[in-house]
Amino acid sequence: MKRVAVNQETEKELFFHNYARLPIAVTHGEGGWLVSDDGTRYLDMIAGIGVNALGYGDKRLVDAISSQAAKLIHVSNLFMMEPQFELAAKLLSLSGLSKVFFANSGTEAIEAAIKIARKWAAQGGDEEKKEVLSLSNCFHGRTYGALSLTAKAKYSDGFDPLLPGTGMIAFNDIADLEAKVSGKTAAVFIEVVQGEGGIHHISQPFIDRLKELREQYNFLIVADDIQAGCGRTGTFFSYTQVNADPDLVCLAKPLGGGLPLSAVIGSEKVANVLTYGNHGTTFGGNPVACAAGVAMIKAIEEDNLMEHALEIGSFINDEVQKLAAKHLQILEIRQYGLMVGITVDKEAKPYVVKALEKHVILNATSVNVIRLLPPLTISREEAQHCITVLDEIFTEEAATAEQSC
Ligand SMILES: *Cc1c(COP(=O)(O)O)cnc(C)c1O
Repeated sequence: MKRVAVNQETEKELFFHNYARLPIAVTHGEGGWLVSDDGTRYLDMIAGIGVNALGYGDKRLVDAISSQAAKLIHVSNLFMMEPQFELAAKLLSLSGLSKVFFANSGTEAIEAAIKIARKWAAQGGDEEKKEVLSLSNCFHGRTYGALSLTAKAKYSDGFDPLLPGTGMIAFNDIADLEAKVSGKTAAVFIEVVQGEGGIHHISQPFIDRLKELREQYNFLIVADDIQAGCGRTGTFFSYTQVNADPDLVCLAKPLGGGLPLSAVIGSEKVANVLTYGNHGTTFGGNPVACAAGVAMIKAIEEDNLMEHALEIGSFINDEVQKLAAKHLQILEIRQYGLMVGITVDKEAKPYVVKALEKHVILNATSVNVIRLLPPLTISREEAQHCITVLDEIFTEEAATAEQSC
């Protein structure tokens, strides 16, 4: 095969134009650092969009993947296989819930949760109980069901018609919650920390009221822990911190140690909803991805990475607060473990470009939020390096703005 140049021109030729990629081609990673094809090392503060919890090249993960790959890469769910059973048992013991379904991506976990919720509601015999609600500013994925729950028009514009029977509650707005849920509600989807939405935390009173209303109207609470889960906010599941007591939980991003894997975990209430042939996937619960997931969770526990996430997260928070005191461009910082959102007074994208020039990879979300989702293994020195570069960028930008006045 002819060698293909990996650059922005060929990117445009080869692919649909749906990704705004950074202008670097990466070849490998080392711990918290990515290396590009010209040998430049970049501090990676986005970690494959919150996927690479252990950074790059963790030996335990690589060994688990290669030894499982040598034995069996794929067989489908026509068979039983140890890595899947091991990971399912681990997820049930961590959550105290009852049943697991494995899929491949976050959006597929959301689709499965929507289907389980609707079928559960239908079993109650009320034809009208089909409504699936989510919260404003949320993100649940890009396939039709998940997209129909996702708040922002930029994801759904042009893709009409969406799934019927969906609706949205204003985030943390108790009056709106009370107005929107009813006996017709089958499920309410929540993110305890909205990631894509710019790192916003659900309020305790909102959760408490949601749980009361669940008693009153009998619907399911679905926790989308795809981005905030697997230890990133200091506990394995983010919902335990607000005692959300969900009926269904969705995990993905870091779950497969970088391989595509997602899970829906369900309580006893929904344990018997799915029956043979009802739902499934060819690849879901792939043995290599599950073996990687088991190794990833073991590493998180062995290395106390959840405590570490809290410690480094609060260090980053303190340091960015100091930056905010001297740089007027910083409007607000929100930090939950290693989910950090820095709201700036203009579009965040140019800061991402500037940081890349200084070999630090940041991410912009929700237009004016710089989002940090570093690996859970990030060291204090690496976090400090990121802060130093942010300081430089804000200083240089202020100087340029002054000159142009
Ligand atoms: C990323 C994400 C999804 C979608 O996951 P994909 O694997 O991209 O389909 C859903 N919910 C949340 C909270 C996410 O962060």
